[in-house]
Amino acid sequence: MRLALLGPPGAGKGTQASRICEAFGLLHLSSGDLLRAEKLKNTPVGKKIRDYIDNGRFVPDELMIGIMRSKLVSLVRQGFVLDGFPRTVSQAKSLSDMLDALNRPLTQVINLAVDPAVLTRRFEGRRVCPVCLSVYHVDLMPPQQNGICDVDGAELVIRPDDMPAVVQTRIETYHQTIRPLLAYYRDAGLLWDVDASGTVDEVWLAIDARLAGQEV
Ligand SMILES: [Zn+2]
Repeated sequence: MRLALLGPPGAGKGTQASRICEAFGLLHLSSGDLLRAEKLKNTPVGKKIRDYIDNGRFVPDELMIGIMRSKLVSLVRQGFVLDGFPRTVSQAKSLSDMLDALNRPLTQVINLAVDPAVLTRRFEGRRVCPVCLSVYHVDLMPPQQNGICDVDGAELVIRPDDMPAVVQTRIETYHQTIRPLLAYYRDAGLLWDVDASGTVDEVWLAIDARLAGQEV
């Protein structure tokens, strides 16, 4: 199984990727984690990545692909789940060239689709502790006392990113960016849409049933 997981922030990609890996013995390749790990290394690549990230610039596709490649060649037969990559059609094409060259193309791309109203509620209900940075949610993970951090009693705040006007823009931008990527994978016959509007457990059951069925 060689999978890529797509979905907006708030869709639970990281959680579902971890569960898939645990259930099917796959390696979780999170682009964010890979970059953070490389950034700490005292190598030419590590230094380049530090330069990009510290200057607030995106790490170029070739560099990201290079990091993925070096990780993937070390896996002889193990499958993997890509999380956070690719994000664009051009990244998807580079990825596909790289995986074809390794003779290990993607077997499926899972799109975690969340109803926009549900997604809005997930963002807008988020509360953060300014002191210890714990994250809560008014419906999904409420603190014991309304508006107060369980750990240190500080008053919870809404991050600027989670303000209603900003949330709408973030969601719209995401959908505009992802549309061509979904079309690319749909044309390739790899795309599978999962309704990720339910709870983490409900979404996981749907993914598990489908993947377990394919394994046979
Ligand atoms: Zn706190």
